Amino acid sequence: MVEYYSTNQGVPTVDLADALLKGQAGDRGLFMPRPITPLSSKLLARARDLPYPELASQILAPYAEGVFSRETLDDICADAYDYPVPLEKVDGERYVMRLDQGPTASFKDFAARFMGRALGRLVRERGRELLILTATSGDTGSAVANAFSGVEGIKVLVLFPIDEVSNRQRKQMTTLGGNVATIAVDGKFDHCQALVKQAFSDPDLTGLDLSSANSINIGRLLPQSVYYVYAASRLADIARGEKVIFSVPSGNFGDMMGGMLAFHSGLPVSRFIISTNANDEVPRFLETGAYSKIDPSRTCISNAMNVGHPSNLARLVDLYGGRMNEKGDLSEPADMERMRRDIFAVSIDDDETRRTIGEVWNKHEVMLEPHGAVGWAGLMRYLEQNPHMSDRTAISLETAHPAKFPEEIKVITGRDPELPPSLEGIESAVEHYGRMEADYAAFKDHLQREYKK
Ligand SMILES: *Cc1c(COP(=O)(O)O)cnc(C)c1O
Repeated sequence: MVEYYSTNQGVPTVDLADALLKGQAGDRGLFMPRPITPLSSKLLARARDLPYPELASQILAPYAEGVFSRETLDDICADAYDYPVPLEKVDGERYVMRLDQGPTASFKDFAARFMGRALGRLVRERGRELLILTATSGDTGSAVANAFSGVEGIKVLVLFPIDEVSNRQRKQMTTLGGNVATIAVDGKFDHCQALVKQAFSDPDLTGLDLSSANSINIGRLLPQSVYYVYAASRLADIARGEKVIFSVPSGNFGDMMGGMLAFHSGLPVSRFIISTNANDEVPRFLETGAYSKIDPSRTCISNAMNVGHPSNLARLVDLYGGRMNEKGDLSEPADMERMRRDIFAVSIDDDETRRTIGEVWNKHEVMLEPHGAVGWAGLMRYLEQNPHMSDRTAISLETAHPAKFPEEIKVITGRDPELPPSLEGIESAVEHYGRMEADYAAFKDHLQREYKK
């Protein structure tokens, strides 16, 4: 049976239920599954014929053994994955996988929707009531709020910086109502984050059963391995071992760790390209073996990837036999040679990102947004340096819908990206949100008043 250990190795292993409910391990490490169960040859052979939700359930089953029955898992996946995952041909054997068709139009829906349903089941079974507290600079808050909207036994409170989220991003969170509340903080994202962190460590608030649902939760990682298997099975003969290339635009490296789980389960992949924006701490780490974070992180147009110290890096190091704590200190080196064989890391600046959006539109009439363009540009860089790979099937991940970045894209392509159905109607929906100074005493008072049990 799969158990979950901490990358800091300081606490006993737990099952999936505890890993989901706790989020972070007690020693501040991140949970990792052991063993990473191999994809059976039967599953590899059948994968291409399985609809997405069924494939998801089969891949996730070993990780949920003893916690969710196959029937429950089938239900969770059928309910979570009710939208398409288009594989769009760009040129030759090169594709874009659009992970932007979920209700909040970013790939974070894949993880958040699984997590919402899984946690919902657990709290109902255990008769608990959770308050999910989350700070957001945009995409995470809307994906989490949307995924937990209407889930019984769970309330959600999202804090966002009043001037740092776009109108569309704000409306995705503030128009849900029901069990989802939002507060606009007069401050920056860092202030929101600090308020949330302080609440989590405040002994006066333990009675509220706070939970975070943030990106380090293993419940957000596991489901992100599924679309790699899905795409490869549709575009290559994986049952015979035909290998593909993936390019993953990366910030906190949760998306890419999903790919790594699939790869270490036996999905035939010749190389993962991880493309960052100007926050190039991981490409430099791969090159030199030495790690230093970037603080403060650099501001780029692919704003969901403005991360100067990716929390999931500790998981990657762990997977390659090393040890890194939450601060980024390496106490045991990873097998860098093997990591470099599996991963090609590259940093793409804003100029190249914009140029890529323009070129891909002009040459292929395929519309990319800044994050996906970073991924595509990374793939092009890799193929330039590895021309013998140019016939291989390559899949670049598009992590958000272009309509989330209409201004940038209009300037570059002269077109207004079409609004996906998920974003239609949002302009006129009624918003509800509180406002607050970035003041912990006021925040605590609000929590105690509104969420007292
Ligand atoms: C969060 C996000 C990313 C980065 O994903 P990580 O898992 O943090 O590497 C990329 N693109 C978009 C649109 C995102 O919202």
